[in-house]
Amino acid sequence: MSKLPSWKEMASGGIIPKGGTSHEKDVSGWRTYRPVHDMQKCIHCLRCWIMCPESAILTKDGKHAGIDFAHCKGCGICAQQCPKKVQAYTMKLESEFKKG
Ligand code: SF4
Ligand code: SF4
Repeated sequence: MSKLPSWKEMASGGIIPKGGTSHEKDVSGWRTYRPVHDMQKCIHCLRCWIMCPESAILTKDGKHAGIDFAHCKGCGICAQQCPKKVQAYTMKLESEFKKG
């Protein structure tokens, strides 16, 4: 039986060694729902970009340019914030999409 490390030998937990580390992690596996964006309906008001807690809405030249699915956690705030007259998002079960 191997000897367990002492507390002095164990790696420290709960420490964020530098900024921006969340961008290095793929959290797509956390999603239950996936926002599906309809570019035809979108009026590029960017309310979803402002309100997304994960900065997962991508923009280009001041317009909606897609979703960073490596960091989207599927909270649905983007869909809630999209103007009711537009409704450019549909939240779909992640299981409807094949991996890879
Ligand atoms: S579902 Fe949540 S995390 Fe994903 S893009 Fe919308 S607001 Fe951002
Ligand atoms: S809130 Fe809706 S209309 Fe506005 S940029 Fe986002 S998807 Fe487009």
